Amino acid sequence: MNRKIATLALVSTLSVPLFAAEFITIGTGGVTGTYYPTGGAICQMVNKNKKETNMRCSVESTGGSVYNVNTIKAGELDFGISQSDTAYQAFKGEGKFAGAAAVPELRSAIAIYPELLALVVSQKSGIKNVSDLKGKKINLDSPGSGTRMTTDVVLEAFGLKASDLALANELKSSEGPTMLQDNHIDGYFYMVGHPTANIKDSANSLDINLIPIEGANIDALIKKYPYFAKGTISGTFYKGAPNDTPSIGVKAVLVTSSKVKDEVVYQVTKTILDNFDKFKELHPAYKTITKESLLDGLSVPQHPGAIKAFKEAGLLK
Ligand code: GLU
Repeated sequence: MNRKIATLALVSTLSVPLFAAEFITIGTGGVTGTYYPTGGAICQMVNKNKKETNMRCSVESTGGSVYNVNTIKAGELDFGISQSDTAYQAFKGEGKFAGAAAVPELRSAIAIYPELLALVVSQKSGIKNVSDLKGKKINLDSPGSGTRMTTDVVLEAFGLKASDLALANELKSSEGPTMLQDNHIDGYFYMVGHPTANIKDSANSLDINLIPIEGANIDALIKKYPYFAKGTISGTFYKGAPNDTPSIGVKAVLVTSSKVKDEVVYQVTKTILDNFDKFKELHPAYKTITKESLLDGLSVPQHPGAIKAFKEAGLLK
């Protein structure tokens, strides 16, 4: 929430005008994912400028994209990170965002980095491809996650329903590694920027496989929906998964509301653009991104404050 603090009493005695302080919060995901450190990196940069901007940024760990978008709609978060497919459907009022659940006020600031859907399984589960999931115990992630949204679409593309699984868990991504180690599940889905701590945790504590998510059904999804793209999870990222794993991906987008002030969105966007080279060093998931790619895959209209910052940086006409 934007909270203003009245500073009028102070202003009169100072020569420099004091603006009301702006407190902004960025909704992210599980602490072992990639959204959480990304939100942290953005806030750190924003807070460095707090003397000039009078803005304070804090980060919140959440269930993921769907929660973030809904909480922005409720006016309780100023920013959130969201998968581009979730943001698109929320803006358009499709799927679980139909009718009154639509979020037409959703706006994008920056399309930060690519995420790829990982299907992490224990080697002993014997799962070799998506069709092998029948009769297995799988964590599909919580309903507040974007992972869950994409997973449902992917399972459907393979003609699978939750009822085909021996167990369809709905726990948060952060629980995946422990559940896998404890044999409560055979595998879990996670749409995430790689490499990520969560999957490293699994890979370092038991023998895992990453299952390819590919084939004619996936090609059809990519053709049908503007926000899906093909990609591979590098074989260099996780122990026990030495080959590149083909999968389906989206973008992790910093989103906000049309109700958030232009100046606030401008400052946040400008801060990321001004410090881009340093930002890029902060997480290996940003390895392939460029300033230009930050405009690629936004999936919902860009906020005027973000447009201003991109124009000033010469990245938009
Ligand atoms: N893409 C995931 C989701 O929205 C979150 C990934 C992360 O936390 O890095 O459910």
